[in-house]
Amino acid sequence: MYDIIIIGGGTSGLAAAIYARRVNKKVLLIENDSIGGQILNVEVLNNYPGIINVKGEEFARNLKKQVEDMGTDIVIDEVTKLEKEHDIFFIFTKSNQTYQSKTVIYAAGVESNKLGIKGEEEFRGKGISNNAIIDGPNYKDKVIAIVGGGNTAIDSTLYLSNIAKKIYLIHRRDIFKTEPIKIESIKEKPNVVLLLNTIVTEINGKDKIESIKIEHEGKEQNLDVEGLFINIGHTPNTKLVEDLITLNPHKYIITNHDLETQLPGLFAAGNVREKRVDDITSSIADGTLSSLKAIEYIDSKL
Ligand SMILES: Cc1cc2nc3c(=O)[nH]c(=O)nc-3n(C[C@H](O)[C@H](O)[C@H](O)COP(=O)(O)OP(=O)(O)OC[C@H]3O[C@@H](n4cnc5c(N)ncnc54)[C@H](O)[C@@H]3O)c2cc1C
Repeated sequence: MYDIIIIGGGTSGLAAAIYARRVNKKVLLIENDSIGGQILNVEVLNNYPGIINVKGEEFARNLKKQVEDMGTDIVIDEVTKLEKEHDIFFIFTKSNQTYQSKTVIYAAGVESNKLGIKGEEEFRGKGISNNAIIDGPNYKDKVIAIVGGGNTAIDSTLYLSNIAKKIYLIHRRDIFKTEPIKIESIKEKPNVVLLLNTIVTEINGKDKIESIKIEHEGKEQNLDVEGLFINIGHTPNTKLVEDLITLNPHKYIITNHDLETQLPGLFAAGNVREKRVDDITSSIADGTLSSLKAIEYIDSKL
């Protein structure tokens, strides 16, 4: 029986593990993909106090080492079901394992949204990607497009501007939701073309993407591109808990100030919960607080 099971190995889950291990709680962290989560997509981290010009990947590697060295059990598997009976949580995984725990910190983050247009499913993996870091090197000296206007699209553009020959950055509005300094950097890139108030309406090609159709002020145009990075926001990974607790209208978990959900013993941390800021500092703060509150909850039952 674990004291705390953490679902999700992003920054919030990893921070939670650190605080729980500091007081020797028995902790299992379950991650279905790569330890580090979204931070692995952050090209350079410059807004975390005390950290200057560190790659997201390096930050994640250090966090992982810290968590492992402190004695956290880590399993790479997908949690498929979560149940609570009496005071015990049962966590079921894709590889047919069942784990038991006194508390759960749910830190499962968010998934990338889709455009929902013709060609999007057909060309997934054949020129369409959400992840510049992983798929970017395939587009060396090629013409590509990136859709979106937030952190992810902007970071993808900065990263890919060193790889691709030309990038169309397509945004449906005329204002970006990111740090102004990043926009300034993009404007200085000679190979980036900004297409504002513009939407992508079709993706076309044969075996892989050859062009996209865009629409600006009612006028349509084809752009020849070999790759399309779709970075248009996220949907929270809350399917596992939607029958257990109340979510907000956008399916984010609602917590109180102590990061407790409506189900005693179930805490939520990071981007998966309703909060004002979705960044690394707030995710780490969530991991810390949820862990301290889970510890308090466990100790109150002794
Ligand atoms: C391209 C990009 C650039 C960014 N740039 C910055 C920046 O410069 N500064 C900044 O502060 N923030 C930045 N952010 C945001 C920051 O990375 C996130 O806010 C933060 O990492 C979120 O952490 P998290 O732990 O809440 O979620 P995540 O990192 O999403 O972690 C959730 C984890 O849960 C796992 N998971 C989901 N479902 C299950 C399941 N059923 N079973 C097991 N595991 C599961 C997922 O695989 C994932 O690893 C950026 C994000 C992106 C994508």
